[in-house]
Amino acid sequence: MVHFVGAGPGAPDLITLRGAALLERADQVIYAGSLVNPALLTRCKANCRILNSARMTLEEVIAAVEEAEAAGRVTVRLHTGDPSLYGAIREQMAELERRAIPYDVTPGVSSFCAAAASLNAEYTLPGLSQSLIITRMAGRTPVPERESVEKLARHGASMALFLSAGMLEELQAALLKGAYAEDTPAAIVYKASWPEEKTLRCTLSTLAETARAAGINKTALVLVGDFLSVDFARSRLYAPDFTTGYRKGTDAT
Ligand code: SAH
Repeated sequence: MVHFVGAGPGAPDLITLRGAALLERADQVIYAGSLVNPALLTRCKANCRILNSARMTLEEVIAAVEEAEAAGRVTVRLHTGDPSLYGAIREQMAELERRAIPYDVTPGVSSFCAAAASLNAEYTLPGLSQSLIITRMAGRTPVPERESVEKLARHGASMALFLSAGMLEELQAALLKGAYAEDTPAAIVYKASWPEEKTLRCTLSTLAETARAAGINKTALVLVGDFLSVDFARSRLYAPDFTTGYRKGTDAT
């Protein structure tokens, strides 16, 4: 059996209770070494086999799983944040299915949630944006043309950009071709929830320069949108005049 587990954004106590229990029971853990906090591995049994997938190919990961399966051992495949975002899990699942190896998935706290928490931010502010676009700049992994940052930026919605901290000049230019202005608020969150976390607030026109001055070019999220500004409208949900299924408002007849 293979358990895909979301490790959370970094802080060892931001893994789920279910994920932690699976780590404690695992006979083998294959963790994404570039981003998973190794402190999580202290939960593993003394005789647990621990492999760092940063140095492995898909074939090697699957071979290690097959070996464990043959011995009746349980594998945890530990991915950073939530495994469904940029986790390359579908290709592993396809290989497991081909071999009739059972698996399940335990979600995790994605880094975009940890980044919002570090900034005391809410992506969905009434009157400003009710949508969050999660995307990335094209790098060695291409992005379909219809989803280019430039095109998605036309919505002017809240945006969280993964895997793009190494190309902020290009990112800034692409975002400015959309609905955002030079003074649209932006933020760079480096290693959200890790002890070395850095949060930098800026505007779109100073995005690249702000990251450069702080020496940040990887393991960071870029957030952009008016949700980072101080002006917003109150929610309807908690307004005194608003009736809900749970509360009678002053608008009730
Ligand atoms: N599945 C992960 C994303 C993996 S892709 C998740 O749900 O968060 C790797 C990218 O995620 C990094 O390049 C960076 O953009 C972002 N990332 C992962 N952990 C991060 C953290 N703690 N702080 C800021 N960005 C992070």
